[in-house]
Amino acid sequence: MPPSIRRERALSDNQDYLARSRAAVWHPCTQMKRHESLPIVPVASADGAYLVDFDGRRILDAVSSWWVNLFGHKEPRIRAAIVRQLETLDHVMLAGFTHRPVVELSERLAALTGLGHAFYASDGASATEIALKMSFHYWKNMGAPGKTRFVSLEGSYHGESAGALAVTDVPLFSATYAPLIRQNFTAPTPDAREARTGESAADVARRAAVSLDNLLCKHHQEIAALIVEPLVQGAAGMVMYDAEYLRQARALCDRYRVHLIADEIAVGFGRTGTLFACEQAGIRPDLLCLSKGITGGTLPLSCVLSTDDIYAAFYDDDVSRGFLHSHSYTGNAAACAAALAVLDIFESDDVLARNRVREAEISAALAPLAAHPAVKSFRHTGQIWAFDVPGAPAGFAGLCFERMLAAGFLLRPIGQTVYLMPPYVVSAAEMAALAEALAAVLDTLPAGAPTTAVALP
Ligand SMILES: *Cc1c(COP(=O)(O)O)cnc(C)c1O
Repeated sequence: MPPSIRRERALSDNQDYLARSRAAVWHPCTQMKRHESLPIVPVASADGAYLVDFDGRRILDAVSSWWVNLFGHKEPRIRAAIVRQLETLDHVMLAGFTHRPVVELSERLAALTGLGHAFYASDGASATEIALKMSFHYWKNMGAPGKTRFVSLEGSYHGESAGALAVTDVPLFSATYAPLIRQNFTAPTPDAREARTGESAADVARRAAVSLDNLLCKHHQEIAALIVEPLVQGAAGMVMYDAEYLRQARALCDRYRVHLIADEIAVGFGRTGTLFACEQAGIRPDLLCLSKGITGGTLPLSCVLSTDDIYAAFYDDDVSRGFLHSHSYTGNAAACAAALAVLDIFESDDVLARNRVREAEISAALAPLAAHPAVKSFRHTGQIWAFDVPGAPAGFAGLCFERMLAAGFLLRPIGQTVYLMPPYVVSAAEMAALAEALAAVLDTLPAGAPTTAVALP
């Protein structure tokens, strides 16, 4: 609609983009009819930890724009790296061609993880697909073609393409597509909230590992890989568990000749306090999936890192033993340049050390909220804080989203779980203000039937 017509109708830019978006854009993860009442938020610009709408209203992005934005919006160094890259090489196909950013990024990720071979795609679900296909194909190349199935944890989320949904245990996302999805195995979650009286989080982990042992013992001949979200199961509602589970899982995978795939798409790049979550267990996976924070929330990129052993199983004169998988934008030069800038910032700003200080300050700022009578199972790992509101009325997630938005904060509760996953530039004072607004929302919760775990669309 031309600006003149818009002015005649006296719509603000916010209302204008809201209406046009509803008509022309099919939004992700959304029942569009709900936007008859639930607002779509038009964003004109973003800066640091804030989104800004067309009226200049600032909203604190406390979920890092779906967990991707590490250092705030418009980080000048990442922006400069992308611009610099676009001035020399924007993109070239990666089959048969290579370029400086993809080589340097692969070398640096190898040095950081001990996994020496980097395969690229553009989003998290594709990284999951690649890891699953690689694992299956490895066993086929090794003369074990019967290993065709996978194990994931209860409540797991590894993306929403048909292959990734086969290892995603979130019925809201997978149930509808059941006829399209391969049946796999689900192992009990080591969720620390499952602790019985006298049990520690590590005890829960060991108990869950016994179930995994039984499952692998019985079915290992048909299982190619176990896929886990290390330390925090994000989409399940920030389910946190002890690193002991990863150590046990690593040992069991070795014993039963099953790959361990670490999906660090959400937890990688400092989110749990270490650069990668697996470091806290002192283990190395066979395949590591990275995305989300990898470009600091600027450009789409994902990566699957693999061991020398897996790589070697594909290296052959026979073409069909190779990994014949590709995406058009595989290894995009601008995205790789953004990822290199992100790694530079981790080094130059000593991000992990500074985050440890921020973590303590933010935890202190959230202490009054943690003590609110409606808040249960307040928990945190690194730069993720979460709690449950078991008595919340139906529609709590949407209600909390709307009320917090009105107060200037972006939160997206998952069912009865509220989580905070802010960019690493947010201050303790800003989080204290958020906690105060959130406590006020909890104070005024309408009474009603307890909600079932329905995610905000
Ligand atoms: C977000 C996410 C994915 C999927 O990534 P997309 O880029 O949304 O496809 C996979 N695994 C985990 C753990 C995630 O959080």
